[in-house]
Amino acid sequence: MIERRFTRIQTELPGPESAKVFATKAQYVAAPLETYAPFIVKQSEGAIIEDLDGNKFLDFSGGWGCLAVGQRNHRVVDALKDQIDGYLHTDFTAVPYAPFIELAEILCQHTAIEGSVKAAFFNSGAEAVENAVKIARAYTKRKSVLVFENAFHGRTLLAMTMTHKAKPYKYGFGPFAPDVYRLPYPYEYRKTITADEIEQSLLSLVDPSEVAAMVVEPIIGEGGFLVPPAWFLPAMRELADKYGFVLVMDEVQSGIGRTGKFFAYEHFNIEPDLICVAKSLGSGLPLSGVVGKAEIMDSPVGSAIGGTYAGNPLACRAAIEVIKTLDEENLLERAEHVGNRIKDHFNRLAERFDVIGDVRGIGAMVGMEIIKDRDSKTPDKELTGKVAGTALRNGAIFPTAGLSGNVLRVLVPLVITDEQIDEGMCILEDAFEQALQ
Ligand code: PLP
Repeated sequence: MIERRFTRIQTELPGPESAKVFATKAQYVAAPLETYAPFIVKQSEGAIIEDLDGNKFLDFSGGWGCLAVGQRNHRVVDALKDQIDGYLHTDFTAVPYAPFIELAEILCQHTAIEGSVKAAFFNSGAEAVENAVKIARAYTKRKSVLVFENAFHGRTLLAMTMTHKAKPYKYGFGPFAPDVYRLPYPYEYRKTITADEIEQSLLSLVDPSEVAAMVVEPIIGEGGFLVPPAWFLPAMRELADKYGFVLVMDEVQSGIGRTGKFFAYEHFNIEPDLICVAKSLGSGLPLSGVVGKAEIMDSPVGSAIGGTYAGNPLACRAAIEVIKTLDEENLLERAEHVGNRIKDHFNRLAERFDVIGDVRGIGAMVGMEIIKDRDSKTPDKELTGKVAGTALRNGAIFPTAGLSGNVLRVLVPLVITDEQIDEGMCILEDAFEQALQ
């Protein structure tokens, strides 16, 4: 029995008001833009979403990991209102503005990179990844890019090429960008590999003197919430140093406090050369960035990087408040607490339901792998969809992930309360019971 304090399901889903909007969507919005939730949002606060029909949901997806400080965080909202009264847009490279520069300063100070660090801002995660590669190519005067199995880096041509999963992300969209090479990844629940095997794979694919950059998610997000073993990132740092290429951390999903440190790479005792950020940085406003060693960041020629809306003033004002909120409201500690509480619930569920094969994650980046049985470990995409779908219709939004679509993950706002977590977990437990009936 779910004791509801934060959620409320009072209509069929979609309810009548949402259904009207969905009918218009079917007529006018391009079909590939499928939507996950069977309702239309009316308003949202913290980790709660209310739909047009008065139903209320706990949002463990956090706008796909964009809302570390919560929906409509009051500091972000106040800064945006203030910015609207000043100016909306100039294009930073036409008429510069201070919030872009202030954000660059704060973000650089939050990296654990020694020496001079600089930043550049863009609009989306994919754009940050594309620009990190451009910057690395300009710096090394080399062309090739190394990526990993299970990686997700975005949907533009180069980022899509760098992404692993074929369907839906790449299907029908070739030809892809050249000079991208995929290396094996230590997916500990399913296969172990060594640093030497990764190096041998690299050497068999491309001459390392042609490699500009290795791009890696310190914890793989979309590809299934994979936490690498402790040796992995230090070994990749060694390869980058040995062969002279740039080591880029794609922290689009794992960064900005989600794992209990400002950047996830800080858990692994390494220093990257460049870092890609997006998602929670803008708290829902389109904003991404590349931040890293100044000598690398400075290497493209003047005006070679940028974009009309890159580092929009509203988004920069929001991001400054996001970082200050993380610092001043101890949200990194909170991420750890939230993650531990969710992990405890997940482990409890794994004791009850043997279709849960693995529970993993760092900080509040927690996921579970759903399988047919613990001997074969065969991924069960259908059951994962059923569990997530049942939970969704019952008031809790959980995104899925993984090459096989069998990982249930949590990208919840870090400001979620313990009571809200517990209610969400009751809904999830109930969803397992129903799906397994
Ligand atoms: N890189 C990672 C690790 C991501 O998780 C994502 C999006 O999920 C991207 C890049 C692409 O970001 P965007 O969708 O903002 O282009």
